Amino acid sequence: MKLLDGKAVAQKILGEVAGGVRDLRARTGVTPTLAVVLVGDFAASKIYIANKKKAGDGVGIASRDFIYPDGLSRPALSTLLESLNADPAVHGILLQLPLPAGFDEDAAIAAIAPEKDVDGFHPQNLGRLLAGSPTVLPCTPAGCLEILDHYGAELTGAEAVVVGRSRIVGKPLAQLLLARNATVTLCHTRTRDLAAHTRRADVLCVAAGRPGMITGPMVKAGAWVVDVGINRLETGKLVGDVDFDSASQRAGAITPVPGGVGPMTIAMLLRNTLAAARRQLRA
Ligand code: NAD
Repeated sequence: MKLLDGKAVAQKILGEVAGGVRDLRARTGVTPTLAVVLVGDFAASKIYIANKKKAGDGVGIASRDFIYPDGLSRPALSTLLESLNADPAVHGILLQLPLPAGFDEDAAIAAIAPEKDVDGFHPQNLGRLLAGSPTVLPCTPAGCLEILDHYGAELTGAEAVVVGRSRIVGKPLAQLLLARNATVTLCHTRTRDLAAHTRRADVLCVAAGRPGMITGPMVKAGAWVVDVGINRLETGKLVGDVDFDSASQRAGAITPVPGGVGPMTIAMLLRNTLAAARRQLRA
C-alpha cells in the first residue's frame, strides 16, 4: 500500500508558486494579492483562514483581511465585493463559506468578478469547467487530481467513483475525472447500495463529511483512495470519511487525514491566485 503524501505534494507546488511569485514581481513589480473575506464567527473558518494566510506568507502572496466576526449587512457585503472587484491591486477574492444565516451564498459568489474568483465557484467558472475549457479549477478537486497525477494513477478508462455531490467538491471532482477520460459514477445520500458502487472503483474519492463511512470491505483491492473528508471527533481527533485502518488493508494507495487532500487545497488556492494575477497583469 502506497501512502499518498499530500503534504509533500503541496510543498512541491508551493515551491513552484513561490518561484512564480518572485518571477512576476521581478518582471512587473507587483505582488499577487488575495483579499480574504470572512463574515460571522465560525471557529473552523478562522482556522482555515489562518492556515491560508500562513501559506500565502510563505510563498510571497500578500493577503488583505476583511473579517467581520459580528456580521455584516447584505448590502455592505455587496459593496465590499464590488470595491474588491474594482481594485486593481487585488487579484484574488476568497469569500470564506459558510456565510451566516440570511445570506444568499449563490448570490454572493456570483457577485465576485469571475477573473478574481480563485476558488473556482463562480457560475461562469463552473460553466467553463463543464464546457471543457476551464480557466480556474476549484481548489479541493484540483488538489485531488494533482495527488493522483503525482503518484501516477492511470485515469483513462478507470472506473472512478465519487461519493458526495457538493458544489465545492463532489460535482466538480466528477467533472475533472470525466475530463481525464475516467468512467465516473457520482454517489450521494439517495444512492442505493453505495458499497456496490465503491467496490467497483479503481479510483475512489470520498467527500461526504461522514467519519469513517468507507470501510475496507467497500474498497476494491488495489484501488486508489482519496479521502477528502475532514471530521473532528468528540475526542478532538481529526479523521477522514474513510476508515483508514481497514481501507488501507485493501487499497493500493490511499491519502491520510490529516496530511492528504487538506494541504493540497491551500496550495491550489495560492496557485490559482498567482495565475489570476498573471492573467490580470497580462504577464
Ligand atoms: P457537503 O455536506 O456539502 O456534501 C456532502 C455530500 O456527501 C452530499 O452531496 C451528500 O449527498 C453526500 N453524502 C453525505 N452522506 C452520505 C452517505 N451516507 N452516502 C452517500 N453520500 C453521502 O460537504 P462538502 O463541503 O462537499 O465536504 C465533504 C467533506 O469534505 C467534509 O468532511 C468537509 O470537511 C471536507 N472538505 C475537505 C476539504 C479539504 O481541503 N480537504 C475541502 C472541502 C471539504
